[in-house]
Amino acid sequence: MSGAATGRETALDDGWELVVGLEVHVELSTATKLFCACANRFGDEPNTNVCPVCLGLPGSLPVVNAAAVDFAMRLGRALGCEVRPAVFARKNYFYPDMPKDYQISQYDQPTNIDGRLKLPDGHVVGIERAHIEEDTGKTTHVGGGGRIHDADYALVDYNRAGVPLVEIVSRPDIRTAEQARAFVRELRAILLSIGVSDARMEEGSMRVDANVSVRPTGSDELRTRCEIKNLSSLRSLGRAITFEARRHVDLWSSGERPRQETRHWDEAGGRTTPGRSKEDAEDYRYFQDPDLVPLAPSAETVAAIDAALPPLPAARRAELVAAGAGAVPASDAALLVERDQDGLVLAAISAGADPGLTVTRVANDLAVEDWSKVTPDGLASLVALEASGRVTATQAKQILADIVESGETPEAISERRGFQAMAGHDLAVTVDQVIASNPDEWRRFCSGDDADRKKLAGFFIGQVMRATKGRADGAAVNRLLQQLTHGPTSD
Ligand code: ZN
Ligand code: MN
Repeated sequence: MSGAATGRETALDDGWELVVGLEVHVELSTATKLFCACANRFGDEPNTNVCPVCLGLPGSLPVVNAAAVDFAMRLGRALGCEVRPAVFARKNYFYPDMPKDYQISQYDQPTNIDGRLKLPDGHVVGIERAHIEEDTGKTTHVGGGGRIHDADYALVDYNRAGVPLVEIVSRPDIRTAEQARAFVRELRAILLSIGVSDARMEEGSMRVDANVSVRPTGSDELRTRCEIKNLSSLRSLGRAITFEARRHVDLWSSGERPRQETRHWDEAGGRTTPGRSKEDAEDYRYFQDPDLVPLAPSAETVAAIDAALPPLPAARRAELVAAGAGAVPASDAALLVERDQDGLVLAAISAGADPGLTVTRVANDLAVEDWSKVTPDGLASLVALEASGRVTATQAKQILADIVESGETPEAISERRGFQAMAGHDLAVTVDQVIASNPDEWRRFCSGDDADRKKLAGFFIGQVMRATKGRADGAAVNRLLQQLTHGPTSD
């Protein structure tokens, strides 16, 4: 890992090693919920996507959504898991946003087990399981700064109740805060690649809990862990792990021991605070849900999922880097895959565009939501204009912004904006022509004193402006005139 900031963040006191496992809840982007036909949609009016099933009304019966199971298996296979026959279980506990008083989840027979996720730096993190469960509703505490203890009242929105989730549980194989962030980034890239979730941490469709402990370096024991709940950004994840690890080191070093508990991350205070003492699985009184049949995917079903799995982010990054033949940095490749722009760039490169320049233009200047009007051919033409010096980098950025808006060709935009005549080769040709048509003025310009030269420079600039219908840059013409009398300047 490089970078001073991550180095500082991940440093633990000498002799201590960080041990982190992550639990990531991901909302699947199915059209409907896990056990009913209500719409699965973020941001609707509260309590409009509800029915007797997801409100837990008496007599209602869940029916499993086949698409959600398919998405979950697809994710399992993308993580190298074994897809197993699975059973839905009831996880019993009370919370106001969970009207049945139990959550339908999977317990000892989850759909996916024993996978792995390889980080871009090559570190491999084991995946213990990736099981299917339903989401709860969403509680908003009003007043008292939004904290449950000081709130005046709470509002509950059941639109989220019953939304399909996959909970991905990693093994405690993560050794630095940066690896934890890389794990979440890579998982997110996989989710987007296979199209099973929009994985937006800021909208809560991807939520991360971190199990943190420390141990003496070199030992393989697992000491008491604390679970930091609901980290809602990569930045919070890194900061929370670093804080919590130091807290544990301090406790162990002074002869105390951490308590096994859940903790909350206080972003403003930069610290974790204690939550409930952690339940053991027994406390939830799991038992098989009698309303749902077990899932028994056939070998053919799993084979069909494998066959339909699109290329994963690691392969897509590698393809882009290879197509760039040394001109595409790994960080740009990762960014383009994350934005799903690698296909566009590869197609432009196939159409003859310079790889390095194409990647630079797209990585730096195409960070927009809707780039559907940018075609591979359009991008390739734009890069050709810039590579040949017919437009400058600044002009190329403007043209790209125009393509995003209008979908015009780069040549048409360049023409309309008068870019082409102003720069590079075309301008030099025009200056040559003007000089050739005015040999006397040119001789006087070359041999004259400063005052003559200044006056005649004005004359030539005027002629060039006339020839280019005002599109030339006067300063650029002047530079060319000076170069032609003195030879190219070294700066
Ligand atoms: Zn419903
Ligand atoms: Mn869960």
